[in-house]
Amino acid sequence: MVTMERDTETVHEAYAFVCLHCGHGWEEAYEIRHTTDLAGHRRADYFTRGVRVPSPLTRNDCPSCNLGPIRILRPGRVDAARTYLA
Ligand SMILES: [Zn+2]
Repeated sequence: MVTMERDTETVHEAYAFVCLHCGHGWEEAYEIRHTTDLAGHRRADYFTRGVRVPSPLTRNDCPSCNLGPIRILRPGRVDAARTYLA
């Protein structure tokens, strides 16, 4: 530990999702703010279009059928997953 200062690191990352129930696929771009608090604990907050959202890693609802489950893919693999499901 070399510093106790608060610092923020922002990265942009896109996740691709596919619903295993209805086959709906979509991508979402996230702004991820990594911060270290004064106690040295790391945390990550996720934002989409300026709105704070839960971590995409815990997402389990489908905007199309509201069911799921949801599988997270790397961006650009949605079409491949839909082919796999078909
Ligand atoms: Zn669905």
